[in-house]
Amino acid sequence: MRKVILIIFAIIFLYGKGKITLSKKEQFFLNTHSMVCISTSTWEPFNTIKNHKLTGIAVDYWNNVKKQLQIKSKCKIEKNWSSVLYSIKHKKADLTISTTNTAKKEQYAVFSKAYVSFPIVIATKNSVGFISDMLMLKNKKIAIGKNYTINYLFKKYYPSYHLIEVDNTNQALKLLCKGKVYAVVDILPVIAYKINKYGYSNIKISGKTPWNFHVKFMLRKDYATILPAINRAINNITQEEKLNIYKKWIQIKPSVNYISWEIFIILSIFIIIAFFISFYIIHLKQEIKKRKTLENELEKLATTDRLTSIFNRYKMDISLEEQIEIAKRYKRPLSLIFFDIDHFKHINDTYGHKTGDTVLVQLSKIMQNSIRKSDIFGRWGGEEFLIILPETSKNEAISIAEKLRKKIENYKFDKIDRLTCSFGITDFQKNDTSETIMTRVDKKLYLAKKTGRNKIKY
Ligand code: GH3
Ligand code: MG
Ligand code: MG
Repeated sequence: MRKVILIIFAIIFLYGKGKITLSKKEQFFLNTHSMVCISTSTWEPFNTIKNHKLTGIAVDYWNNVKKQLQIKSKCKIEKNWSSVLYSIKHKKADLTISTTNTAKKEQYAVFSKAYVSFPIVIATKNSVGFISDMLMLKNKKIAIGKNYTINYLFKKYYPSYHLIEVDNTNQALKLLCKGKVYAVVDILPVIAYKINKYGYSNIKISGKTPWNFHVKFMLRKDYATILPAINRAINNITQEEKLNIYKKWIQIKPSVNYISWEIFIILSIFIIIAFFISFYIIHLKQEIKKRKTLENELEKLATTDRLTSIFNRYKMDISLEEQIEIAKRYKRPLSLIFFDIDHFKHINDTYGHKTGDTVLVQLSKIMQNSIRKSDIFGRWGGEEFLIILPETSKNEAISIAEKLRKKIENYKFDKIDRLTCSFGITDFQKNDTSETIMTRVDKKLYLAKKTGRNKIKY
């Protein structure tokens, strides 16, 4: 028996939950009226189109009320908000589902209680700082939907402000994105939803107006009879149902995520400039490399003897100056070997000038291969050669010269029977210049010639 009573109570409770008690007048109204609901589809997330159907927060709330009261109703979509208001004013439609009351609208319409409230906020470009006061919008272009309630609020409280009236919030945000207006004002979820959905990465919410938007149903005035029942239905919507609607529409993920065109252009310009700079640097590097090669070739040409490919007189002069400077500054030993081919005139006369040239080339090669890497060897003039020996004492130079002398004496040159050279040797003395040291070594060479040739003198 107790079980039966419990089941009856449960049925009464479940059936009774959310059921609205209607007065006779209200019931009669609902029985005799089918309501035409009218709305735009551009006020996401309140009203928008999905699969060719009007949908959104406002539609979900209206469907809830409609179900509770079992209202027969159909929804029509209008292009813009002004047309919606016109339809209700002229009784071509019976209600709209997401608006709030203004004195002007109250002339021809009645309003339900708010089913949800949101702050009215200000959107700007990212570069704008926090807007803490409405005064900061003075003399700035503000885009707002034509005939939107927010538009009336501005006209009432800030009549001097520069409003740009647009068809809808999408248009307003596009103008803001292009920098044609300074700010867009609309309710928080609408702006947040659109910034998120359309990927306006250069737009942000910068501040709050002093107003809250109480979202209500608006009915033509002669339908006021059913308004109390609608309000009771709104009261009857549970927190859970409200939360589900909120979750469904506010916590969306962006469907597209592209970079703004400004960033794109800056990035493109940067890439183009970087490309040209890289191109220029590569070209410059090649040019520097070419020039270096050319300089090296020129330097080689300027310092090399054409016939023998060893250093020429010019290079030997410079090297001698440098080595004297080092020897002086660091008090290091330095020696010179100066040698001359014996009776070279005779070789030219006997075998011809060409053979003489060949002998000069061969002799240069032998000498170059017989001295150390650090020694500097060059042609001083006709058949005279100089070896600069850094870090070398006179005694070391003497033994090197003797070694070279023997090598030449014993070498079998092409075509000629025998070739000898005479050598003068000296070392660096304090206060020596290139002239004094060369004079001294030349004198030693002369002595070698005078005392029979194929000799070394020091
Ligand atoms: P000495 O033993 O006294 O040095 O006798 P020498 O004949 O070698 O001396 P001299 O200075 O009288 O003659 C040097 C000759 O070297 C004169 C010149 O014709 C020759 N000569 C100088 N430069 C070149 C050259 O580039 N090629 C050839 N084939 N001969 C040259
Ligand atoms: Mg000679
Ligand atoms: Mg000579």
